Amino acid sequence: MEHNIDKIYAQALNEIEHTTSIEAVQDLNVKYLGRKGIITRFLRNISRLPADERPQAGRRANEIKQQIESACHQKLAILEKDGPDFVKRIDVSLPGRVCARGTMHPITQITQQICDIFSRMGFEVVEGPEVETDYYNFEALNFPKNHPARDMQDTFFISDDIVLRTHTSPTQPRVMEKQQPPVRIIAPGKVYRCDSDLTHTPMFHQVEGLLVDENISFGDLKGTLTFFVHQMFDPDTRLRFRPSFFPFTEPSAEVDIQCVSCRGDGCRICSHTGWLEILGAGMVHPAVFEKVGYDTSRYTGFAFGMGVERIAMLKYRVDDIRKFFDNDIRFLNQF
Ligand SMILES: [Zn+2]
Repeated sequence: MEHNIDKIYAQALNEIEHTTSIEAVQDLNVKYLGRKGIITRFLRNISRLPADERPQAGRRANEIKQQIESACHQKLAILEKDGPDFVKRIDVSLPGRVCARGTMHPITQITQQICDIFSRMGFEVVEGPEVETDYYNFEALNFPKNHPARDMQDTFFISDDIVLRTHTSPTQPRVMEKQQPPVRIIAPGKVYRCDSDLTHTPMFHQVEGLLVDENISFGDLKGTLTFFVHQMFDPDTRLRFRPSFFPFTEPSAEVDIQCVSCRGDGCRICSHTGWLEILGAGMVHPAVFEKVGYDTSRYTGFAFGMGVERIAMLKYRVDDIRKFFDNDIRFLNQF
């Protein structure tokens, strides 16, 4: 009998503890202590017990009655003071709040991959200013004033002498002015050109590379870029170098890779040529070395520049460059 009432007591305390509203506590009060409540009925039935058990059972039942009353009062006090929010706040059975974690932008990811590959070949990462003087953006790179090659780059002018850099190449003379060869740098960053369509945005990202030392040949350039392409794309990707023109390199080349989509058979992505242009490169023009005071009889070097969006579009098969800057989470989450 006593064992039984202790069980009821434990159950009552448990139920009171888990209530979340004032009404629920009041209901429990009625369930246990009301006129037809469990404890009340127990007390009423004590007279049916053997005479020698009655006093102890009665004492225990009364104790329990008081304790249940007091537990109900305490719980009501808590609910009245803090409101239902208090109970919600401590409901450990609720699932945790999901913390929405961001990811790195695909352009940042590709920039880092490019820098990683060249870092492994001993290139140091440097950065230059985005608002640049005409001197570093053009003149130091052998684009004299009124040179027609300036028209190749649709420049945003801040003033006659200040521009938003049209390429990351100004980093080359900036670094060379401060140090003698050997120079081995990679310069990532934003560049600006007045241009906008499916494959051009007014702001985009480039990575520039420069290596200057004794006995550097076009073969070193080919080897370096081949290693890069094989790391960035498939290790069996073929490359080709086409003659081109840049004022600051001579000879200059455009570098194409075998189409990543059709493997050279010809498709819409490669305009049915089987090849995709990925970067420009060449041997540094002696005029650029003379401007920074390098001994052109002793040193040679190569430079290259690539568009990060271009690499990202080819690697991820994205056909519209603007998708990288729309900030559509559904697009960005795929990388
Ligand atoms: Zn193709």
